[in-house]
Amino acid sequence: TSFGFTRVDEGRKQALVDDVFHKVAERYDLMNDLMSGGFHRVWKDAMVSYLAPPKSGGRGWRLLDVAGGTGDIATRVVRRSGETVEAVVCDINESMLGVGRDRAEKAGLSDLITFSQGNAEELPYPDRSFDAYTIAFGIRNVPDIPKALGEAYRVLKRGGRFLCLEFSEVEVPLLDKAYDAFSFKAIPAIGKMVTGDGDPYQYLVESIRNFPNQERFAEMIREAGFERVGYRNYSGGIAALHTGWKL
Ligand code: SAM
Repeated sequence: TSFGFTRVDEGRKQALVDDVFHKVAERYDLMNDLMSGGFHRVWKDAMVSYLAPPKSGGRGWRLLDVAGGTGDIATRVVRRSGETVEAVVCDINESMLGVGRDRAEKAGLSDLITFSQGNAEELPYPDRSFDAYTIAFGIRNVPDIPKALGEAYRVLKRGGRFLCLEFSEVEVPLLDKAYDAFSFKAIPAIGKMVTGDGDPYQYLVESIRNFPNQERFAEMIREAGFERVGYRNYSGGIAALHTGWKL
């Protein structure tokens, strides 16, 4: 494409990402449904099932949902716990957080979900302060991924869990071709239809292509210090859930 985004430096990359989510915040949830055909809901539900937050009696158990945007993961986790656990949604973008805050208020969950601005590369939280760290469709946007993984490790308590949901490498023949065709053409087109600008979505599609595959990413998580690292594919690898423990 004419973008050449893969060559931009890290500061510029973050600025582009911020611009995308600033523009799309109000319509982010709709965009997600359109672009994934509703599948993001299934993958997020599966992620939260895998996390299995404590059901009732979870008081004192704390989740940090990084790049949490409008709070999709935090909301699911808090609901599944019978509204006992506490969640902090951390995102770099105030527009996304604003939409999330309104949504949590409408859902009556403001007491349990806090929305706070912060960068995944430099989390504004003390060491060993969370029982679980989640990041869904977020780490791909962070310029320095090893730094973000190091921060995830730092803020988790011993015995804490790391879960990352991200677009990954399609491992099913033919599905990979269909998916390529869909994402390169349809995603920018849908983006343009809903927000009037297709270019930012071109960037998102490219960021998926540039993200390390399942094995390589698992290795990066190990390098950050996590143990018992593994992953599971969803929908043939369109998305993958990587998990690990701070032991
Ligand atoms: N987790 C939510 C979900 O699954 O619906 C939102 C995902 S959205 C695709 C990606 C989010 O990452 C955006 O809200 C964006 O503002 C955030 N983000 C991008 N760079 C970030 C950074 N360096 N630190 C924290 N959040 C960041």
